[in-house]
Amino acid sequence: MIGTGILKGMAVTARNFVGSYFEKDRLITVQYPEERNPLPENYRNFPFLPYDGDDPEAGLRCVACKICEKECPPQCIYIVKSEDKKPDYMDKPQFYPKVFNIDISVCMSCQICVEVCPFEAIKMDKVFELSRRERFDALLLRKSDLAKPNEYYHSICPTDAAEVDAKLAEAAAKKKPAAPAAPAAAPPASAA
Ligand code: SF4
Ligand code: SF4
Repeated sequence: MIGTGILKGMAVTARNFVGSYFEKDRLITVQYPEERNPLPENYRNFPFLPYDGDDPEAGLRCVACKICEKECPPQCIYIVKSEDKKPDYMDKPQFYPKVFNIDISVCMSCQICVEVCPFEAIKMDKVFELSRRERFDALLLRKSDLAKPNEYYHSICPTDAAEVDAKLAEAAAKKKPAAPAAPAAAPPASAA
């Protein structure tokens, strides 16, 4: 009969509407911004730069190779490579980004920068409340805005962050020079 589908749909809506006063599971909206639904672990928004340790400058994993800048489809990453080098997490001297900007008003959240980075140096964030009143460069995130501690990455993506830590620790262990062999035991003193 014509209209049966509409009536069935309205019955479901009515059941959920009335039921939401008695069962919390039927209430699918929350009182945002006071209440927030947890975001799924794989939710992504804009990139950020995780750093190790306490110092965002010293701990950045980025070596300014510019692969992400080249591969970013809308070209919203801008990097200036340093002239000097600093030790990376394996104590290997590496270049670092003197400037690292992302224009998130252009970024399309594709995650390609994350996929192509060989150094686990850029990851996707979950922050979404980023609207600004200013019209010009308020959405141009600079290195200091993008740098966030590895603990933050663990808090938003625990599974991925643990995998990345394990991968980096394994790489660091492989690169460590072998411990020098123990000196041979001294020959016993000859009897007088
Ligand atoms: S997420 Fe995509 S668009 Fe955004 S900076 Fe990365 S590569 Fe560029
Ligand atoms: S974030 Fe990764 S790909 Fe981009 S410049 Fe730094 S090390 Fe290279």
